[in-house]
Order: sequence, then structure tokens, then C-alpha cells
Amino acid sequence: MTSSSDVRVRIAPSPTGDPHVGTAYIALFNYVFAKKHQGKFVLRIEDTDQTRAKASSEQDIFDSLKWLNLNWDEGPDCGGDFGPYRQSERLSIYREHIDILLEKKKAYRCFCTAERLDELRADQKSKGLQTKYDGKCRNLSEAEIAEHLEKGTPYVIRLAMPQEGTTSFNDLLRGDVTINNEQMDDQILLKSDGFPTYHFANVVDDHLMKITHVVRAEEWISSTPKHVRLYEAFGWDEPTWIHMPLLRNKDKSKISKRKNPVSLGYYKRAGILPQSMVNFLALMGWSFGDDQEFFSLEQMIEVFDFKNVSLGGPIFDQTKLTWVNQNYMHKMNDDEFVAHMRDEVITEDFLRKLKPLALERMTRFEQFFDNNSFFFNGGLNYEGLTILPKSREPKEFRDMLKGLLVVVDDLYDWNTESIGSALKAYRESIEWKPKDFFMPIRLITTGRKDSPPLNESLELIGREMVRYRIRDFMTTMK
Ligand code: GLU
Repeated sequence: MTSSSDVRVRIAPSPTGDPHVGTAYIALFNYVFAKKHQGKFVLRIEDTDQTRAKASSEQDIFDSLKWLNLNWDEGPDCGGDFGPYRQSERLSIYREHIDILLEKKKAYRCFCTAERLDELRADQKSKGLQTKYDGKCRNLSEAEIAEHLEKGTPYVIRLAMPQEGTTSFNDLLRGDVTINNEQMDDQILLKSDGFPTYHFANVVDDHLMKITHVVRAEEWISSTPKHVRLYEAFGWDEPTWIHMPLLRNKDKSKISKRKNPVSLGYYKRAGILPQSMVNFLALMGWSFGDDQEFFSLEQMIEVFDFKNVSLGGPIFDQTKLTWVNQNYMHKMNDDEFVAHMRDEVITEDFLRKLKPLALERMTRFEQFFDNNSFFFNGGLNYEGLTILPKSREPKEFRDMLKGLLVVVDDLYDWNTESIGSALKAYRESIEWKPKDFFMPIRLITTGRKDSPPLNESLELIGREMVRYRIRDFMTTMK
């Protein structure tokens, strides 16, 4: 038995985009479990996929978790005894651990070229077989390996998985999970660029950071047997595995931005209070007991037990979230209300940015709210507006908007200049006339024809809300 103060859990997000509600959900259960047992909650940034990592995304993760009051005890910003807490700063540690596995003959160098692997995959597919590495380099002789190394042939490191039998692990919520080893690939641990894969870095770090309980989303269950084999290859003890049920859309599919906004920034911007979000997320798959629906983080910590998690896929229901939020809003005292309006809704920083856009169209201050409402609103009302350009078919228009969503999604650095150049490049690529392109975007994002300059307005409305409005408008199209 672990004594309570030994409990160490972690959240390990990859900084690849907008902080996701699923990250907050998993962070919440880790945090509460750590606090319940006077343990430690660690934040580790898994940024080894350099093609996808975005620098500002890390700061956004910190900000979102802090917004929700899910503060960590160890992490890249505050340090701790088991750092560094950013995987890109731990490359030498991974290298050393690869050497241990090579030495033990639990891992091997694979010199196969991308072309060979493509052919192998195509061949297996055409025969209706499972696609997996065929083990060609598994038994290379020392001389063959030396020859490749001499020539400088690029290579990856693979784990030598058992080819027969089964791999099992115990999940605290689900009991024993077993899979056939035949289904498992000789997974890559280190890529040819010297960066570790998720599986390898994650296991090495969880072990070195003395993580006792891995609490993560259900979608990682299929990775766990690979992790179990890695623990075994090193001769390390496994942590306790706890896979939380996935958040789902109303139609029970995995939560996705096509059906629900998923970024925490959107909810903050849309006026959801942090305590509402935390309370709502806690209700996703966990019950407080006695049908109690409203509780604080402290109250949750007091009664928390994984026993009260149910595995039926919890539905991320906007109506319920709004209902929870309404409850917290109505409970605010005068001071809390004033502080919220001042610190979150009409902030000084926002007013400073709004000033040039707002004043241009105002002759008296009484016009402020009417003129500028779209900077503060959520969804807009498009009744009475003709948005589809005359010369375009609805299908073409919808395709243009779909492409626009991709542009917005990819434009992580959101400012007047970057918005201007991204819109320009997109318009040119689809060869639309400026009028057909910009007017509908203006109408969809501001709800009016006579709004201030578009790029400046879009910057201030914010990326999350711009994206939300485009999607929201698309749901109104026939
Ligand atoms: N980096 C993984 C993620 O993005 C971590 C998964 C895990 O908790 O093991 O969610």
C-alpha cells in the first residue's frame, strides 16, 4: 500500500494548440486525487513532437489551468525535485535510457527506409493483414549493425516486443485488460531525428518522476500495453492505471470541435465562470453522492474517491454547463459581481485596445454599447442579413467557410497583421473576388455591414469567438 503522502500524479499535455476541455477534465481528477491524499500534482509538458509544438500554447496551458484553480506543485514554471518538466529538455535522459535497453537487448536499431516500410504496409493491407513492422532488423548481427553505423544509415530504435502470448494490466476502474501480443507492433522508441516517441518519453518520465497513479483519458488504453512492456523491459514497477471515461458529444461520439467548442479559452470568453467549469467537469462521470450537483473544489476533495466514477460516456452538454454557470452567477455577492465585470468582461486592457475602433464611430458615449456589442457578445443573430454573395452557390460558400475555419484554426498567433495576411493568402488561393469574400466574413463575425476595419475587429473579437461564430453561422445554413 502506498502511504498517502507518496501519491504523485501528473497531467502531461502536449502544447499543440488551444488548451482543451479534456485536459482540464483530466487535470481536475489528478488534482483532486493528489489533494485528497496530501500528494503532489505534477505538470509535465510533452513537447517532443517538434513539428506540432507551439511555444505560446504552453503558456496558454498554464493560464487555463490557473484560471480553473488547478494549481500544480511541480512543473516547468515552478521547478521541483524531478525536473526538467519539459520533455524537450530531457533528451539526454532519453538517450541514456535507450542505451540501457539496447544493452539489455530489449530494444534494437531499425535501419529500414521509409520506402521499405511503405511497401510493407501496402503489401500487408492488400493481403488484409494487420499492418505492423515485420521485424527485419530485429536480429541483425553486430557486424551488420556496425556496417550501417559506419555508413551513417539513419535508424530508429524499436522495442523488441514478445511475439506470442498476451499482455495484461489492471485498470482501477475497469479491472483486467488483456491484449494479444500478436496485435502489438515493435513500437518505435526513438525517432531518426533523435527525439523520443510519446510512449517512450512518457514511461521514462513517469518512472523518474515517481508517478504512482497514471490518471488519463480512456483513449490511451490502447497504448497502455506498450507502456506495460516498457516498464517490464526496464524492470520497473508499473504505476496504478486509471483511465477516465471520455467526454462525448450528444450523439455519444468523442467530444470534437465540430459539435462542441472544446477550447477552454472559448468558455472563458463566453462568460463561463471557472468554478462553474470545474463543477461541471466534476459531474462528468463522477458523482458527489446524494444527488448533490453543486460543490466547490474543496468539497470535492473531501469526499473524492475513484469508486464514484461511472464508465458510461459522460455527455458534454452545453445546456447543463450553462445551467451550472447560472447557479454560480446568481450566487455572486456585489463585490464578486463588480470584480468579475471589471476583471473579465470590460477589462482595462480591452478598453485600451477598443478605443481607436470604438471612438471612430461614436459621437456620444451613449452609443458605446449598441455600437460595440459584437465585441462582447457570444453568438450573433443573422436574421435579416443577406450573407451569401449573389454570384456564389450555397455549396461553394459552405466550402469557402470550411476552408476559412481551417485558416482560423491554424492561425495560432492571432493579431491584425497575421489575420490580414492569412485571409489574403486564403482568398488568393481560392481566387474569390474581395467583395464576395470579405463582406460575408464581416457579416458572420460582427453581425453588421458597417463594422470597424475587419482585421482589427477580428483580433479583438478573439480567435475562439471568431471560430465559434463561423461554425454557429454554418449550422444556420440549409
Ligand atoms: N501527451 C499526452 C497527451 O497529450 C499524455 C497522455 C498521458 O497522460 O499519458 O495527452
